[in-house]
Amino acid sequence: MQANAVSEKYPDDCGPIGVYVHIPFCLSRCDYCGFVSYPFEPALEADYVEAVIREVNSLEKSPLFSAHSFPESLDTIYIGGGTPSVFNPGSIERIIYAIKRKFNFVDPIEITVEVNPSTYSKDEFFKLQEAGVNRISIGLQSLNDFELRSMNRRHSRSDSISAVINARRAGFHNISVDLLTGYPGQTLSSIMNSLEEIIELEPEHISVYMLEIKSGSKIENRIKLTQETLVNDDLMADMYEAICERLCCHGFEQYEISNFSGIGMESRHNLKYWTDQVFLGVGLAAHGMTGRTRYSNVVKLERYLSSACDKQSVIESLIEMDPLTRFKDAMIMGLRLNRGIDLALMSCAYRLDASRFVRDSLGHLDGAELFTIEDNTIKLTQKGRLLSNIVFSQFI
Ligand code: SF4
Repeated sequence: MQANAVSEKYPDDCGPIGVYVHIPFCLSRCDYCGFVSYPFEPALEADYVEAVIREVNSLEKSPLFSAHSFPESLDTIYIGGGTPSVFNPGSIERIIYAIKRKFNFVDPIEITVEVNPSTYSKDEFFKLQEAGVNRISIGLQSLNDFELRSMNRRHSRSDSISAVINARRAGFHNISVDLLTGYPGQTLSSIMNSLEEIIELEPEHISVYMLEIKSGSKIENRIKLTQETLVNDDLMADMYEAICERLCCHGFEQYEISNFSGIGMESRHNLKYWTDQVFLGVGLAAHGMTGRTRYSNVVKLERYLSSACDKQSVIESLIEMDPLTRFKDAMIMGLRLNRGIDLALMSCAYRLDASRFVRDSLGHLDGAELFTIEDNTIKLTQKGRLLSNIVFSQFI
């Protein structure tokens, strides 16, 4: 198909951007983890914060902005990991302050910090709030102690409950929690028990992730070496459907394959990823996207610390996306949203025939009940959300 010219969203009409900051340290390694993370050593905290601040301060000189102007305004910051809450709230505050000196903050700003349940007391949540953080994402994963031990999480069910209560008492009105489904040993009843307890905690947002076996993770080895078995596809589907149904009954809106929220409480930062908006990634292994260019930072800690120190660019990979690749990426990310994609808007934004692209790519899946097209809007069905990889793979 013809895709001559994808419109240039950056820099002319990109609007306020988002900034993701990666804190790549954890107290221990969860068995399912496939993220870039290093064992936390308190001596590293100050050096890493300095390196992040140096990277923020020199963003304008990044190769990303040699061809076009630096974005001026920002309306979301997401500090994730790793485990950002191994750092003192004061360190988080310094990073936010450095970003604030570089960009105009546009109201209403959303500043999220990921917190592990065993790390922060009410006092520390309170300090985070004073630092301007207004959204907390707590990695509960399960409220079953047996499952938490099997995942090698460092917290118990009661730590998790205390973390949510402490965040609330410290004044947070936007709390998200993560739940992991499909973990070996998990049953439909155990996951639903966790969910019921989570609902009682009244978070504004819930992310429900299905286990993916990441290469090199401990769980991958465990499955190879022991009799442990994965949750089968039928049970995984039953869990997903039961969770969606229960959350929907309880007033949560499913707005994305894995994400549920109260009205108006969607993650505004993550929406930037799903709607092809500009975001910058700061910190070791962070990724960013400036419209035409995707990039990622170095993953070796020593290199990140020394590069930032020597005022060298910390970008390791920089890919200029061709127009069709960018359009396909936008289709894959946009279809994750329950509201789907308006094909007329896509045709206009990317200057190609999006309806024809969909017909050519997905026509052979007609009748599989994976997606619907009504009023020129394509949406995944509930079955399609469960089997989204089948749809997405047609665009690759
Ligand atoms: S807390 Fe997150 S990043 Fe750290 S080891 Fe566990 S899953 Fe990985």
